[in-house]
Amino acid sequence: MSVGLGLFGGTFDPIHAAHLRLARALRDELDLAEVRLTPAGDPYHRSEQPGANAAHRLAMVEAAIAGEPRLTVDDREVRRQRPAYTVETLEELRAELGPTEPLWLLIGGDSLATLDSWWRWEDLFGLANLAVALRPGFSVDALPAAVARHWQVRQVTDFPNQAASGTIRALTLPPVDVSATAIRARLQAGGPADGLVPDAVLAYIARHGLYR
Ligand code: ATP
Repeated sequence: MSVGLGLFGGTFDPIHAAHLRLARALRDELDLAEVRLTPAGDPYHRSEQPGANAAHRLAMVEAAIAGEPRLTVDDREVRRQRPAYTVETLEELRAELGPTEPLWLLIGGDSLATLDSWWRWEDLFGLANLAVALRPGFSVDALPAAVARHWQVRQVTDFPNQAASGTIRALTLPPVDVSATAIRARLQAGGPADGLVPDAVLAYIARHGLYR
C-alpha cells in the first residue's frame, strides 16, 4: 500500500507540463499515497506581482490535476495572510500527519543550490525528506559547502525508503525545456501553448482572458 505525502510548491503561473511531470515522478518513483501541489500566495510588492493572481493560479492547478490519481491541491499558502515559508508549511503538515508518516518535499536542482538562503533551512531535515529534480550537468561541487554536506550524508537511493524525514533522494526524470516565463511570453504574443499546458488550463486561461 502506498504511504507518505509529497509536497510540491511553486508559483504555477501557469502550471505546465514539466510541473505535472515532476509531480507524477515524485508520486510514482516514491510510491506516495498523495502529492500536494501548493501554489504560493501573491507577493507583497506590487512590482513582483505574477501574471495571474493567487485565486487564478490555484484554479488552474485544480483544473490541471482533475481526475489525476493521488495528486491534490493544498491552498494553505494562498490563504495565509503573510509571506509563507516552506518550513512553516512543513511544520503544519508534520503536525497533521504525526511523527512517523513519510513526508517529502520536492525541489528543483536550482533550488538545492540556494537552499541555504531559505529561512531556517536546516530545520527542513527534521520535518521532511528532500526529493531533488536534477538537471543535466548537476555537480555536487557547485553546491554551497553546507548544502553539499547534507547532500553527501543524507542521500539514499534504496527503494522503498520509508524514513519519515531526514533523507535526500534524486528523481531520475529527464528534463523538459518548458518554463512558465516562456509560456506567458508565448500567450502574450497570441501564440499557441498546446502541449505545454494542459488543455483544461488553456481553456481556463482563455475563459478568463489571462496573460494577454
Ligand atoms: P518561471 O518561469 O515563472 O520561473 P517555472 O516554470 O520555473 O516558472 P515555478 O512555479 O516557479 O515555475 O516552478 C515550481 C518548481 O518547478 C520550481 O522548483 C522549478 O525549479 C520547477 N520547474 C519548473 N519548470 C521545470 C522544468 N522544465 N524542469 C524541471 N523543473 C522545473
